Amino acid sequence: MIKRSEVKRAQERAFAMIRRAGIPVRDEEKAAIAAADFGLSRLEEFGAEILTLVETGRYGAKIIVLFPGQILPEHWHPPVGDDPGKEETIRAAWGDLYLFTEGPDTMRRGRIPAGSEPAFICRRELVMAPGDQITFRPGEKHWFQGGPEGAVLYSFSSVVRDTLDGFTDPGVVRTTKIVED
Ligand code: ZN
Repeated sequence: MIKRSEVKRAQERAFAMIRRAGIPVRDEEKAAIAAADFGLSRLEEFGAEILTLVETGRYGAKIIVLFPGQILPEHWHPPVGDDPGKEETIRAAWGDLYLFTEGPDTMRRGRIPAGSEPAFICRRELVMAPGDQITFRPGEKHWFQGGPEGAVLYSFSSVVRDTLDGFTDPGVVRTTKIVED
């Protein structure tokens, strides 16, 4: 749950970062940025600011902003019916992006807030600079963290069904509740 004023602040900050990344966006798109707190009510630590560029029933493209140290929680894209699960390509656009996948523990720069360690199984760290790109197989677990100045990235994927994603942290609720203040 996050307050409306918090959403507004996050939109301002994320929009400025997208512009700083040199990605052209229209003024009116600021209000379309979703601040996702993953139901954990700690947006600065666990969250992501997401501008959906396109989402059809078959593919999607988003710009994702992570504030410094902000974590998009560990998740995977499960099969749905005949679909083997969302295939997703992440392309770093600005700042340092720490990306974690399954494999040997090479975590050096990533920081998991104390007490939340069990929610992060993936400890294979990839430091992504602008222009670096990776594609996840359907079902492959992953999570991201913004570096010291945060990060701006693109996410390109097959059909988006965010609310069906699996999360390691059982406390995650994918739909963000906003309270007026
Ligand atoms: Zn994903």
